[in-house]
Amino acid sequence: MFDFTGKTAIVTGAGSGIGEAVALELAAAGAHVIVSDLQSDACAHVCAAILDRGGKATACVADVADPQAHERLVACAEDTGGLHLAVNNAGIGGAQAPTGDYPLDAWRQVMGVNLDGVFYGMRAQIPAMQRAGGGAIVNMASILGTVGFANSSAYVASKHAVIGLTKTAAMEYAQKGIRINAVGPAFIQTPLLTNNLDQEMLDGLAGLHPVGRIGTPEEVSALTCFLLSDRASFITGSYHLVDGGYTAP
Ligand code: NAP
Repeated sequence: MFDFTGKTAIVTGAGSGIGEAVALELAAAGAHVIVSDLQSDACAHVCAAILDRGGKATACVADVADPQAHERLVACAEDTGGLHLAVNNAGIGGAQAPTGDYPLDAWRQVMGVNLDGVFYGMRAQIPAMQRAGGGAIVNMASILGTVGFANSSAYVASKHAVIGLTKTAAMEYAQKGIRINAVGPAFIQTPLLTNNLDQEMLDGLAGLHPVGRIGTPEEVSALTCFLLSDRASFITGSYHLVDGGYTAP
């Protein structure tokens, strides 16, 4: 559907869930994907899947909460000829507790990954995209970037902040050939959910979506790849839902 031939893309959190689906779709459409995650086996697994299908990929272990790690990812992309696309996707759910009891270390951890990780990513990626003549970035937010969710204050605050950060950076680079958007998935069938919730809770979450189910990583990837593609050439600074109607009521 899209053609990313000749482009290099960084995808963080690409070893699982939504990031894995995005990495596979970008590679299938011709991109060289820098597959980045915390664990080397997760990176290797996704790289192998891409290479098996005849695609191009490089594994790069990186903790998005570390600004230096993003410099290494960009260097890795520039070794392939330049950085054109980036998906700042890595994220964690964090502790579940009411705001008055929310653990301080959990707050810092969630902000470090979900918010600082996106800022550090763009701070390293944007100059590289300028060197490459332009590019496109998608930051993975959430429906919880615009609505609240009890007992998840750190996650909700981090995702609201990602949307503001996205809009601000997009305004700064709109005339410099770099488009920057945020995506807001509702609940998606990935290990982030399935490792933390039992089937009864998953069924309860499905009922919150007017379509009657939770989403798939591929449904989030389809929107993400569209926003990265030239088909989205007039789209920047905006937040795009893929939520089965969750926020419609
Ligand atoms: P996932 O399956 O848990 O995948 C996230 C990946 O990111 C994992 O491989 C994880 O590694 C990695 N990661 C965690 N911390 C990292 C760090 N500090 N640096 C680099 N990588 C790190 O989760 P997902 O559901 O695909 O989520 C992807 C993004 O979508 C997140 O930003 C999430 O907030 C967002 N999102 C998800 C949903 C949903 O319902 N699933 C809904 C809305 C938004 P480990 O497994 O080793 O921790």
